[in-house]
Amino acid sequence: VMLALCLVFLVAASGLGHLLTSRAMKAIVVAFNRQREFVADASHELRTPLSVMLASVETLEENEEDRLSPFSQQVLADMKDEVLRMSKIVGGLLTLARGDAGAAPIIKEPLELDTMAQQIARMLDPLAKKNGITIKVTTEGRTVLQADRERIEQLLLILLDNALKHTPSGGSVNLQIATASHHQVKIVVHDTGAGIALEDQLRIFERFYRVDKARSRETGGTGLGLSIAKWIVEAHQGTIGVESTMGSGSKFTVILPQGSLNNKQER
Ligand code: ADP
Repeated sequence: VMLALCLVFLVAASGLGHLLTSRAMKAIVVAFNRQREFVADASHELRTPLSVMLASVETLEENEEDRLSPFSQQVLADMKDEVLRMSKIVGGLLTLARGDAGAAPIIKEPLELDTMAQQIARMLDPLAKKNGITIKVTTEGRTVLQADRERIEQLLLILLDNALKHTPSGGSVNLQIATASHHQVKIVVHDTGAGIALEDQLRIFERFYRVDKARSRETGGTGLGLSIAKWIVEAHQGTIGVESTMGSGSKFTVILPQGSLNNKQER
């Protein structure tokens, strides 16, 4: 064994080793890129049949002449739920595959984060009220940054939707927008919900990782939300992290660079 190890070391240390390593690396990169392309192509191809299936289910549901039995109505409703879930997964996979391939452009524009936060909280307020949860927004007045509007909206929605899903009635969700040092802005989503165990905190940003698969399915989760959130934050050269205590809530903190606000548009 020692002899073999010495040989490997000698080959690696020599020019031949370098050649082999760079060849092997090239092959690995090609294989990775093929896999990414495959996921992107597969997700893209699945979107059309899924839209057709959804349209067919809706046509059957709305067909006035052909009254369906309660049993058939239930089967159709279940089918529709699953088709919608699958469309959500396929959409999420496509976003991530395009992000991996560098094929999802980040189009930056000056963005008033405080206004956007208020709008999104207003939009989610009826859902929160229905579940007995209070949403509060804390801002420091005008907080502007250079960022992709659609993506930042998606990021806030993912974090708030998760907070609402995991907070019981009587709890609260706080969205805080602030400027941080070194020309950065801070987004904090703090809930008083179930909390996340330490070993899960290390894994929740992984694709398809869910703490409780059955519960996530029930609440319409796909296990891709936080991976998409992480991709959006990193595509803006920011960071995302979580602090949580079981039973007393979770706090997600995003730090984003403010960016040069003089440039009208930057890719
Ligand atoms: P999902 O679609 O299942 O919500 P995410 O990637 O958004 O997937 O989240 C991964 C897992 O992290 C969730 O299944 C959930 O268990 C956990 N999680 C995310 N946000 C919270 C939160 N605010 N409180 C408790 N658990 C959370």
